[in-house]
Amino acid sequence: MSAKNWLSRGTLVLASNNKGKITEFENLFSELQLPVNVIPQGQLNIEDAIEDGLSFVENAIIKARHAAKISGQPAIADDSGICVPILGGAPGIYSARYAGEHGNDAANNQKLLADLLPFRQQNTPIQAMFVCVLALVEHAEDPLPKIFQGFWHGEILEHVRGEQGFGYDPLFWLPELGISSAEMSKAEKNKISHRGQAMQHFRQSLG
Ligand code: IMP
Repeated sequence: MSAKNWLSRGTLVLASNNKGKITEFENLFSELQLPVNVIPQGQLNIEDAIEDGLSFVENAIIKARHAAKISGQPAIADDSGICVPILGGAPGIYSARYAGEHGNDAANNQKLLADLLPFRQQNTPIQAMFVCVLALVEHAEDPLPKIFQGFWHGEILEHVRGEQGFGYDPLFWLPELGISSAEMSKAEKNKISHRGQAMQHFRQSLG
């Protein structure tokens, strides 16, 4: 089976129901000008998979297999989140549901700020890293998912800042740019973000 077989299928299902991610992917995929329709799984009425892996890689594969199984099409999934080393890597794979309710960004941000309070020291930034793992499967039982990863280093602010983006963007500070990732346009963010970097690896794999 050719490594690029999925390209000849005409459709690639995007295994995500996260609006923020889907918007970023729309821009990233349109730049690639692939000869396939990239269809978010919601348009096919595919609900979220149960993410019971213990790593970004496992969960990305679970999501991609789920979408491929229901759609009968190749699928690509993004499992992403933010890791804070001083919290042992949390929120990590639980980023979307850190405060309990899946996708409640405001509550997740408040919990992260509260959890970090005991660790705050003057002039000592709290390091953090956004992680994005993409998994592409040709079909639900694909024994060789293709994996592309991106990492984006920054710091966690003490207060939310900025109106763009989604999730933890208003807390993610880029010291070298002097802005939060919620103060960047989608195009600027896609150039350097964890998702943008993973997509660059994906692009390179296309040859
Ligand atoms: P997933 O949909 O299970 O992969 O969860 C991803 C979660 O990680 C999102 O709900 C956000 O909370 C967070 N996240 C991932 N990527 C980003 C980003 O680019 N900006 C802000 N938060 C993100």
